[in-house]
Amino acid sequence: MNAKLSVWGDPDEAARLLVGDIDGHGWLLERPRFDRWLRDVAQRRGAALAVATRLLGASRESTGWRVGLDVDGRRRSLTSKILIDATGRRAALGRRIAGRRTNDDRLIARWMRLEGESSEAGTTYVQADAEGWWYVAQTRNASTLAFFTDADLPAARRLADDRAFLEAAHHAGLTRRFGLATAVVNASGTRAAHSGTLDAISGTDWLAVGDAAASFDPIGARGLFTALFCGLAAAEACDRRLAADADALAYYGHVLQTILAAYRQERNAIYAAETRWPDMPFWRRRHALPAPATKVA
Ligand SMILES: Cc1cc2nc3c(=O)[nH]c(=O)nc-3n(C[C@H](O)[C@H](O)[C@H](O)COP(=O)(O)OP(=O)(O)OC[C@H]3O[C@@H](n4cnc5c(N)ncnc54)[C@H](O)[C@@H]3O)c2cc1C
Repeated sequence: MNAKLSVWGDPDEAARLLVGDIDGHGWLLERPRFDRWLRDVAQRRGAALAVATRLLGASRESTGWRVGLDVDGRRRSLTSKILIDATGRRAALGRRIAGRRTNDDRLIARWMRLEGESSEAGTTYVQADAEGWWYVAQTRNASTLAFFTDADLPAARRLADDRAFLEAAHHAGLTRRFGLATAVVNASGTRAAHSGTLDAISGTDWLAVGDAAASFDPIGARGLFTALFCGLAAAEACDRRLAADADALAYYGHVLQTILAAYRQERNAIYAAETRWPDMPFWRRRHALPAPATKVA
């Protein structure tokens, strides 16, 4: 990635060039390919992969967990000393074990993928709007266009229609800015993008990783980095737990709480920098987000 462009807090566009950036140049990921690569590496290192598999239930037994699975329509069961929930925002396992997942907001992403030559390949772009914010990412022959708003606000309903979405993008100046007039719609949809966390991220014999543990507003672009960090930290924590370190999983949970607190502080600061629509519900809610409960070191 070459640059991050933004119109935020000010009607003028600002550019942050990533050459020589202390955080590195950043990546525009083709997610299915990246996920396939990760799975291949895990398998080469000894992980057993079960595709088309759904969790049915988990119960504690004297020697560990018994997990019920639906594998391609057939019921299977397996045992394990430790369980890891990696099911994303759904937190399918953590919710059963820890109970609630609490969300900070109701953010959703209305997105569209367009094919056609790009004018700003290798960039991401963020533009604040009265009802939320726009996001554009361009590679050479494809663009991702998204609008982030709250699920219960009028924009979420209005922009659910592809034509209305494209008209709004045009009205926001994005069609011209990114040369999208002749681009062809390839796919579109809506996804949850809220911040949230499980009431407990770990217990004595289980833990959650990635979005299942804590999910982040994409404005901070922290989700994947934290999910990868979780993978490494969780592996070490499990290793120590199996070697009889009783505090290993609790320590992992504590580290994640610290990361979450730092994220909330950063997110609140980003939203505080945009003050042009103080009376619009989206921005009023962002400016009233609570400060993190855990102390940030
Ligand atoms: C619109 C949007 C934009 C984003 N932009 C960025 C960005 O710019 N930068 C960034 O770093 N992050 C971004 N993120 C966040 C990033 O996508 C996530 O943080 C990351 O995908 C988390 O990975 P994960 O593996 O924890 O969860 P996921 O990617 O959600 O994977 C969870 C997996 O669990 C499976 N699963 C769910 N339930 C079950 C079940 N019951 N049984 C079995 N399997 C199950 C799902 O099918 C899925 O394969 C964005 C997110 C959204 C929604």
